[in-house]
Amino acid sequence: MIKIQDIRDAARDMLAKGEVRAVIGWQRGSRGMAAEPVVINAPEQADGLVWDPTCYHNLSLYLVNDKKAQAHAKQKPTLPIAIIAKGCDARSCVVLMQENYFRRDDIYIIGVSCEGTGVIDERKLAVALGGVKPTSAAFDGDDYVVTLPDGSEKRLPAREVMADRCLECREPFPKENNIALGEDKTGRALEAPFAALARFEQQSEAERWNYWQRQFDRCIRCFACRSVCPMCFCDECVVDSIEMKVAPTTSAEEKASRVRWIERSNTLADNFGYHMTRAMHLAGRCIDCGECERVCPVNIPLRLLNNKMEREAREQFGYEPGASIGGPSLVSSFRDDDPGTWIR
Ligand code: SF4
Ligand code: SF4
Ligand code: SF4
Repeated sequence: MIKIQDIRDAARDMLAKGEVRAVIGWQRGSRGMAAEPVVINAPEQADGLVWDPTCYHNLSLYLVNDKKAQAHAKQKPTLPIAIIAKGCDARSCVVLMQENYFRRDDIYIIGVSCEGTGVIDERKLAVALGGVKPTSAAFDGDDYVVTLPDGSEKRLPAREVMADRCLECREPFPKENNIALGEDKTGRALEAPFAALARFEQQSEAERWNYWQRQFDRCIRCFACRSVCPMCFCDECVVDSIEMKVAPTTSAEEKASRVRWIERSNTLADNFGYHMTRAMHLAGRCIDCGECERVCPVNIPLRLLNNKMEREAREQFGYEPGASIGGPSLVSSFRDDDPGTWIR
């Protein structure tokens, strides 16, 4: 089991030796049990780092934010930035490097293995505890131990309250790393991969259509799912409103180049447009960190959509997102011997 002191020591040493300019990790949160992301840049801040089952966040998002901030400030850092990365966080770093968003030397990966468990699903935990809100949570082998507001502790089998993505996770170890802590349990899947998708697909086409209509009708288009996703890094997105003054002299080409493809209003049709566009943009890129689904305020099961794209990529092309930096990226590569005639 990973000792928090090992993570803190690694971060402290790197900062003290001037090997990295900052470390992205988790600290004790300000809203009860949940940890929160933090960027530290002084060795003494390393003592505030934490590692527990509430480290849900995919921290590669903060690498993207850092890169954008550097670009907007027209700065080119000379030192890498370190990230504490779970298996899924490390896979998204790999996708970002495949897409040349970063170079490998730009980042230093302190890998942390989820070993036999993963992160907590707060909604499952709330049900298990009858709504009582714990003040902290810890790993303990295949269990979680939560501390309740009265100071007592409760042990729960992790499988009962673990996030679905972790139950289906085959790669709880960050293969791409500079240093890695914890045991490598690659290949572990506590539930069959794509189990929820397989259950969903047992329904008829009409049932599935009705299901998605009901789900997308509830979407309030808050875009939290987009904001939390490290793969949604475009500065301009097709769903955003674009300010443009139209004058009599504005040409059709100018208008076309600034067209807003999807209206801001959250009608069912536009919600479908948003979610289908996003799903297509994530094909072969989503690494199933589950963050979009976790942050959705109305509990839309976005993993089902993303998993569908992931499974198609796997079955049709043998493609696994985030598997290797040097490997091809799904949507920007082709094979000369592709059986489809369109390629010629
Ligand atoms: S999906 Fe896998 S790597 Fe990510 S938190 Fe869950 S178990 Fe860990
Ligand atoms: S987070 Fe949920 S409600 Fe918000 S835009 Fe995404 S799917 Fe819709
Ligand atoms: S689409 Fe969702 S699950 Fe996939 S990488 Fe983005 S936040 Fe993670």
